[in-house]
Amino acid sequence: EPQIVWLRRDLRLCDHAAFTAAAQAGPVIPVYILDDDTPGDRKLGGASRWWLHHALASLEKDLGRHGTKLILRRGSVCDVLPKLLEETGAKTVHAIRHYEPWWRRAQGKLQDELDLELHDGNYLLPPGTVTTGGGTPYKIFTPFKDSMFSAIDGFDILPEPSLSNPDSWPASDSLDDLDLLPTKPDWAGGMRDFWGDQHGTAAAMERFDKFLEVSKDYTDDRNLPSEDATSCMSPHLHHGEVSPRMLWDAMSRYTSDGARMFRAELIWRDYAQNIICQFPKYGEESYRDLYTGNFWRNPNRGHVIEEELEAWQMGRTGYPIVDAGMRQLWATGWMHNRVRMIAASFLVKHLLIDWKHGENWFWDTLVDADYASNGTNWQWVSGSGVDSNMFVRIMAPLSQSEKFDAGDYIREWVPELADLGDDRIHDPEANGCRPDDYPAKLIGHKEARERALSNYREHKG
Ligand code: FAD
Repeated sequence: EPQIVWLRRDLRLCDHAAFTAAAQAGPVIPVYILDDDTPGDRKLGGASRWWLHHALASLEKDLGRHGTKLILRRGSVCDVLPKLLEETGAKTVHAIRHYEPWWRRAQGKLQDELDLELHDGNYLLPPGTVTTGGGTPYKIFTPFKDSMFSAIDGFDILPEPSLSNPDSWPASDSLDDLDLLPTKPDWAGGMRDFWGDQHGTAAAMERFDKFLEVSKDYTDDRNLPSEDATSCMSPHLHHGEVSPRMLWDAMSRYTSDGARMFRAELIWRDYAQNIICQFPKYGEESYRDLYTGNFWRNPNRGHVIEEELEAWQMGRTGYPIVDAGMRQLWATGWMHNRVRMIAASFLVKHLLIDWKHGENWFWDTLVDADYASNGTNWQWVSGSGVDSNMFVRIMAPLSQSEKFDAGDYIREWVPELADLGDDRIHDPEANGCRPDDYPAKLIGHKEARERALSNYREHKG
């Protein structure tokens, strides 16, 4: 009897325990359901949809190589899956387990109603595997990371299974029916330029091979936004075109510090999942309400923050490193990690705007927008998380820009400043060379710092 494989953020064939189990049990019907109901206000953002289109196209091709198909549907999974079982005569649905709160609720509901077999596989280890000496889940990253390194002793990567076809296929929407690509206007030109046609498992592994060649320098160079020194695996990992286990495994020949550091970054990704498993609302509510009263500058305190929020979103704050990052994000759907930290800190501390506004913007504009990683990192920056940078440690964007040598990066993303040399580009206003078409700073660094600190003193609980 046919077996349904229900795909979500696991759009690959290899190292996919649900495909492997289904293929052993019978002919396989792979299904992707575009569900804008179940996630509530967490439906996929625009940039993620663009990526998803290409990831699905690539998976369709990979399945085509096996002489098989991908069935596409729209609607709530809790309606569509029971219908598909009826239509196909299948009795079992196999899926990779996901941990976003809305997926956990839907998985529970479906398991009450039908035979849903959940498999692990999108993380290095299933969340909850490593625990503190007292048997509780970790809240703090460093001991979590150390335990993960001790617990992981290599992985057996599952090969692509051989798939057999059912006697008949259920109806499918076409990929274009899902309307995932922007049309009016088509804002995805910058994304096409940046990512090329490199989507899907094979392209991701090819990109990763290039990264491996420079990985020995990763420890230092990953902080330099002008260099191509990080893997750019985040959208491939988020949409599950590759598993982190595959990357860990592909790295096994490499023993440099850089290789270890890269693995520690993969562990950050697992850490974020462990956090949302413990605190499902972590992606949208401060864990620690350090901010009593009206901490944030928001409209009910008589501030008009909309214009400042928009200036941040559009990369017009007057801080070149922040603006370069925000424009890179808008154009490509991705931003360098160091710059994500600087831009996020600027919103929260220099502008005193609630981190949730920033999280929402990233959710819509990142091709790797991930409920757990986004929330965990925003809460880390804002000082409200389980394991946080302290609010009073205020990042200085101008000196960060100099320290991490962001000149070329700024010249690439802020063309108004393209003629400025390294000695002047980080702070054109102070150097008396701010071009007319580049905005003045929304607020000076010293003033912003003092405002943030006095606000903190006033409101800390
Ligand atoms: P590499 O340096 O090559 O790292 C390899 C992989 O490790 C990444 O692909 C990613 O899967 C994981 N990783 C690295 N750093 C982190 C981290 N701090 N937290 C979690 N995983 C990490 N990452 C997302 O995938 N989705 C998000 O929505 C997201 N939002 C963020 C928001 C803020 C405010 C900040 C500061 C960081 C955010 N990150 C997010 C983490 C990080 O910036 C990106 O994962 C990284 O920049 C992706 O580039 P890369 O693949 O070249 O990373």
